[in-house]
Amino acid sequence: MARTLLIIDDSKTIRQQIQEILQNGLLFQTILQAEDGLKGLKILVEQDVDVILCDVEMPGIDGMKFLAMLQSKEDLRDKPVIMLTSHNDIASKVKSLESGASDYITKPFENTELVARLRVHLELKALQDELKESNRLLRELAQTDPLTHLYNRRHLMNALEPELNRTRRMRSHCTLILADIDHFKRVNDRYGHQMGDEILVGVAGLFAKQSRQYDIAARYGGEEFCLVLPETTLEEGREVAERIRVQTEELRFAGEAEELRMTMSFGVACYTARLDETLDGLISRADKALYQAKSNGRNCVLCAR
Ligand code: GH3
Ligand code: MG
Ligand code: MG
Ligand code: MG
Repeated sequence: MARTLLIIDDSKTIRQQIQEILQNGLLFQTILQAEDGLKGLKILVEQDVDVILCDVEMPGIDGMKFLAMLQSKEDLRDKPVIMLTSHNDIASKVKSLESGASDYITKPFENTELVARLRVHLELKALQDELKESNRLLRELAQTDPLTHLYNRRHLMNALEPELNRTRRMRSHCTLILADIDHFKRVNDRYGHQMGDEILVGVAGLFAKQSRQYDIAARYGGEEFCLVLPETTLEEGREVAERIRVQTEELRFAGEAEELRMTMSFGVACYTARLDETLDGLISRADKALYQAKSNGRNCVLCAR
């Protein structure tokens, strides 16, 4: 993997010296230079840098101000920064470590020490990146239904509470659709569980396709799905449900001899700031509307008033 170092120092001699020490390219494939903190930040915004070497004393944005600005940027604050300090400046060594620097090197430095410290921080960064990535994967696994790759019920419930709070604060509305595949048990009985799974994946795809950036599409239970639509009225939500209902009818699955078609029933309920309603209350209204849709002959959308 190509690695990049950024040297921030007002002294061109120092920058050149470091560049020469590292010119064999074993640690870094790219070395960038900046003469003050502001120019350094500009580079960081534009390019992905692995390690930063930063002088403490510089005109304009000095090392301490640079650290403070870096800490204020969420995506940059974890970058390893090694400060370049002068020999007897204990105070700024301590202060820079307290301000988010990873380490310091005292000028004048030995070439071997510079290389050794840079290597340590590269390795630390690689470990940290790996950890971040596995945390991200774990989080994703914990909130995803393994069959359909929609959100699972746990994530849905975790995300709904703050969504409804936000809706109340904004005096807005949020619509919830509950959907249940019709006579799904028959599919399993006649064609087997695997065919059933295939249909679940196909239907889930319709929910995923309909959901916009801030919507939550989830597998609510076995053959039940939930779609949360923030900033959406009951009528708009009904239209979305109707679209998915029609698309479900249009799906075709290959059975042994014949083609399989499915239908789905929908219950839609809208949460508004006016209604002093709990999350359970909202779900219960959508569930009752869904039950009504089943009683009305299935394959239809019913709204809770
Ligand atoms: P209704 O129209 O009233 O909803 O009838 P239904 O047959 O769909 O409802 P019922 O609740 O009786 O059956 C749901 C079926 O869904 C039973 C269960 O075996 C099946 N099911 C639940 N989860 C899965 C799954 O992950 N895979 C498969 N293949 N089937 C599942
Ligand atoms: Mg300087
Ligand atoms: Mg069901
Ligand atoms: Mg069903």
